[in-house]
Amino acid sequence: MGWLCHYTPVEIFTALGYTPYRLLGREGNNPRAATYLVGNLCPYVQSCLEAAIKQELPLLAGVVIARSCNAMIHLANVWPHYGAGGKTVVLDVPRRFDEDAVFYFSQNLRRLAAELAPPGERQLNEERLWAAITWWEEQRAAWRELLACRAAWEDPPGGKEIMDGLARWQTPLNPQEADKWETVITRLTRQPRVKTARRPRLLLAGSILPRELITMVEECGGLSVFEDSCNGMRLLLAPAARAEGDPYLYLARLYLGGPPCPRMVGDREKRRQYWAAAVDRFRIQGIIYHAMKFCDAAMYDYIALKVFSEKKGLPLLRLDGDFSGGNRGQWQTRLEAFLEMLGVE
Ligand code: SF4
Repeated sequence: MGWLCHYTPVEIFTALGYTPYRLLGREGNNPRAATYLVGNLCPYVQSCLEAAIKQELPLLAGVVIARSCNAMIHLANVWPHYGAGGKTVVLDVPRRFDEDAVFYFSQNLRRLAAELAPPGERQLNEERLWAAITWWEEQRAAWRELLACRAAWEDPPGGKEIMDGLARWQTPLNPQEADKWETVITRLTRQPRVKTARRPRLLLAGSILPRELITMVEECGGLSVFEDSCNGMRLLLAPAARAEGDPYLYLARLYLGGPPCPRMVGDREKRRQYWAAAVDRFRIQGIIYHAMKFCDAAMYDYIALKVFSEKKGLPLLRLDGDFSGGNRGQWQTRLEAFLEMLGVE
């Protein structure tokens, strides 16, 4: 079952017997998607549609599209006609975290489970859902342990290795592959690493971070130790309080109460606290913000991060990108100058 936004509770898919598969977009231009979506729309969203049209995705039973931003709403409109086939189910996600929002979201999740249930099975068995919640929590806990190593070690695994591992973790092709998650995480903690103590420790932020940016940052001598993005550390939700009673309420609290993404306009202060905690714990020396072209949420978020970094006295570099993989030339010079300022020779 395909999914896009990190506010999609994959536990429901697992409980229903689906293998959750994250659509992470593709590199390159999106000429075919651009015929169905307006041109000035999020390139990540365009690239997911392009991948579907070009049949680059595995066979999917359906896709759940969270209407988390304007671009996703457009995608939800065209996907049933030009997407990858199977069911298209949309999920509304509140933009704030309080008890009303939790209750509303829990009702949406209950509806989602009913819509995805196989014919004849109207109600998802709650025991199965709790078992899936536990299974996912074990995985996230293992990732969070790796995160603790990244914070403590002078030579932690680089951002590229971690992000590649997270991408593999989110895109298993079958349940057997999904069960191998522990191997992916263990390999990351054990693999030999070069000494990186003198590389500046960086926070990379944005709505979704392209692989090429992290690769380039590390090729130019920086070390990404925290990726604040919806394909990065925001996935590693910490368990919510009260893991009992209604599993839908639990899931609603878990996802809405996790690290807020730029779209959570009602949660700005929490987002600032999240950055502050990451800066202290990961001993951040500089911040790079990837501003996705046409993403309004990213623009507001960047302004808030700029204010935050000025107060903290942390250097901040903004790089604009279109998720196409063709930004290297534009980024390289500015990145090198920024890293030189942070002491990279
Ligand atoms: S990057 Fe921005 S516009 Fe694109 S899907 Fe995410 S929040 Fe929406």
